[in-house]
Amino acid sequence: MSLILPGSTIGVLGGGQLGRMFAMAARRLGYRVHTLAPDHDTPTGQIADLEINASYDDMDAVRAFAQAVDVVTFEFENVSAEAIVEAERHAIVRPNGRSLAVAQHRLKEKSFLAEHGLPVVPFAPVRTDADLAAAMSAVGCPSVLKTATSGYDGKGQVRIEKPEDLEAAWTRLGRREAVLEAFLDLDREISVIGARGVDGEWSHFGPIENAHARHILDVSVAPANVSEAIAAQAVDVTHRVMDALDFVGILCIEFFIARDGRLVVNELAPRPHNSGHLTFDACRTSQFEQQLRAVCGLPLGSPEMLQPAAAMANLLGDIWEGGEPNWAAALSLPDVKLHLYGKSSPRPGRKMGHLTVLALSPTEARARVLAALELLLSKHDPRAQP
Ligand code: ADP
Ligand code: MG
Repeated sequence: MSLILPGSTIGVLGGGQLGRMFAMAARRLGYRVHTLAPDHDTPTGQIADLEINASYDDMDAVRAFAQAVDVVTFEFENVSAEAIVEAERHAIVRPNGRSLAVAQHRLKEKSFLAEHGLPVVPFAPVRTDADLAAAMSAVGCPSVLKTATSGYDGKGQVRIEKPEDLEAAWTRLGRREAVLEAFLDLDREISVIGARGVDGEWSHFGPIENAHARHILDVSVAPANVSEAIAAQAVDVTHRVMDALDFVGILCIEFFIARDGRLVVNELAPRPHNSGHLTFDACRTSQFEQQLRAVCGLPLGSPEMLQPAAAMANLLGDIWEGGEPNWAAALSLPDVKLHLYGKSSPRPGRKMGHLTVLALSPTEARARVLAALELLLSKHDPRAQP
């Protein structure tokens, strides 16, 4: 049966903030939520009915988890193919295993895109010593070497400025299967988050513009400042990828716009995405509720924005450096929405929460969210000390 109604139980593989916000959406619609992750007291587990602490490779745990739920979905995609097959034996799994396999492996992902005639950065595989020279002559410099699997927030990547640096870079990455890709001169980065239902119904949130700091998403603004032609192309690519994978759920595509105006796919995320956190406050239906509706076989909701623009700023552990951030100061702006993920140790680079602001224009939204961030940090300003 593919219609999974309120009162049913959703299983979420992964325990982070994406699962937490998904669980909030699911709870609001009267669903029960189970989560499986290796850690205790996870951001998702704090909201779920049941938190199972097990490794994603513990097949007995994955089996028991799948048997107890009506549908399994993901907030973390780097789960082994074996675990997905095991879950598929005992429950409906959405998105499907093929979508996960393509999205979790950079070489499979880029080959899939190229085979479908979709725009992708020039790339070449690096699996053996012999591949090094071939990859360098195909891609050239500057380039970036990335591990094929399990990279995130810029981890597992090395910039290559000169051909002779490639071998040392590969050694730094543990001589694991990797992909060499051209390093593009970027004008900007955007993402499109699409939702696709069981019957192929499709919806999207429109291009969102993303600025990174130290390879980690810093600020997202919707709508992205791009031409209508680029926006339409990015939306079309997202739709085509989702149809080709028979994808059910939420898929985010990160795109590069090169300085010469070309749009190319950077990577796929087969789940809600950090750049879509603003949809929680800014849209009639958030990416999380949309994921729930899609994986349950329900009609999709309206992605319409409640105001013309919105911005989101990530709160990383770094802002705890001088003590607890000044929450009250940021919340003194009455329209600022503060989200915290319930994580207890604020390590540098760790995503702890975010701020969202709605506004009449993207420029205003960005300025206001940065002003809120400034207020959060205000007690670190010596002038603010008595
Ligand atoms: P992650 O999985 O860590 O998000 P990405 O491949 O998205 O890895 O890379 C992180 C960021 O690094 C990108 O958002 C972009 O800012 C920069 N980057 C990565 N690859 C390239 C490239 N080929 N050209 C230019 N910038 C890149
Ligand atoms: Mg990325």
